[in-house]
Amino acid sequence: MSKALIIGAGGVASVCVHKCCQNSDVFEEICIASRTKSKCDALRDKLSGGKTKITTAQVDADNVAELVALINKEKPDVVINLALPYQDLTIMDACLETKTDYVDTANYEPLDTAKFEYKWQWAYRERFEKAGITALLGSGFDPGVTGVFSAYAQKHEFDEINYIDILDCNAGDHGYPFATNFNPEINIREVSAKGSYIEDGKWVETEPMEIKRVYNFPEIGEREMYLLHHEELESLALNIKGIKRIRFFMTFGQSYLTHLKCLEDVGMTSIEPIDFEGKQIVPLQFLKAVLPDPASLGVRTRGKTNIGCIFRGKKDGKEKTYYLYNVCDHQECYKEVGSQAVSYTTGVPAMIGASMLLTGKWKKPGVFNIEEFDPDPFMEELNRWGLPWKESFAPDLVD
Ligand code: NDP
Repeated sequence: MSKALIIGAGGVASVCVHKCCQNSDVFEEICIASRTKSKCDALRDKLSGGKTKITTAQVDADNVAELVALINKEKPDVVINLALPYQDLTIMDACLETKTDYVDTANYEPLDTAKFEYKWQWAYRERFEKAGITALLGSGFDPGVTGVFSAYAQKHEFDEINYIDILDCNAGDHGYPFATNFNPEINIREVSAKGSYIEDGKWVETEPMEIKRVYNFPEIGEREMYLLHHEELESLALNIKGIKRIRFFMTFGQSYLTHLKCLEDVGMTSIEPIDFEGKQIVPLQFLKAVLPDPASLGVRTRGKTNIGCIFRGKKDGKEKTYYLYNVCDHQECYKEVGSQAVSYTTGVPAMIGASMLLTGKWKKPGVFNIEEFDPDPFMEELNRWGLPWKESFAPDLVD
């Protein structure tokens, strides 16, 4: 009998819940808990009647005592954290106290500084080891599948990987002049931050959107993409041997960039609180409130995503290039689970990551990034659960 506690009931959690119900042999029971219980209840009402038993609960995931009480009551075998990055540490604290395995899709970010790095979560390593429980960090798509792809390339295709370019293309069109495909606050914090990449073991910083390239994506075509800082660069540079340079690029349409620039210029993307009519408000949080809810984009979004990694390195003394990627269609995702592809490509790997722990395939005590586990069983599950991967041995390269 295995049971998962899913925290959060937004876009990603909704897909994960659908997928857990499809994989009822592993997920016999789930409890969906979030700040707004009605969202959990709506998911339960949509999906109950299948083999997976679903319960719901209200929880403030910023509050460790509340989380501990909920875990003690529900007694899950794993907690899947699909709330926001701000809640990572409180949920990890509760998992430690109750000796429960932990999975998330995004690394911790303090509310008052838009700076995401692994140091806060890596600091839990010894305590998780001692407690005999596993924390699987970053089990979404990027981070997540990009780490599994890297571990797979290292295991099967290379003696040494020297260069990785992670390319994230969303060619979906939702018809709005400006909207974000996942939580607007997290999305805008990410893209308005300085860019960076790792070269020869050192971070190289760029201005936001300073480095632009055009890439011809399989099944999509040419798109403009920009170099961003992204969290998996930090762990992959340590865990993949021989890395000389690792970069992350994401595509953006012109309308998105023009709107973002204007919003930045007038101060609407700031995370510094301001006084407004006698009350303190954070401009970015106010902006979030007026933008379309990402969960509402599914029905309108058409087109595909293509996310993958281009590897360059050596095999048997010879130079080699290798591209692993997934193409996902927004409308196909919507038909299957009622969500667009950005939530889908994150929610499916979250379910698979949790299933790796529940089935014992990846069980070891400590705090781990996803590329530290054997990639093979995860790669098989990607094909099975809706994110089949493709490979190319002669891809276009990014200069
Ligand atoms: P949403 O904003 O749609 O959902 C977040 C959910 O968390 C909401 O249901 C929200 O509740 C709940 N929540 C927020 N704060 C608390 C709290 N204090 N206590 C309890 N519940 C809370 O976000 P997404 O579903 O788009 O994203 C979820 C996570 O996935 C984020 O961490 C995001 O960074 C990550 N992500 C990872 C990707 C990857 O590839 N690795 C890609 C995309 C996203 P309420 O409904 O009340 O607001």
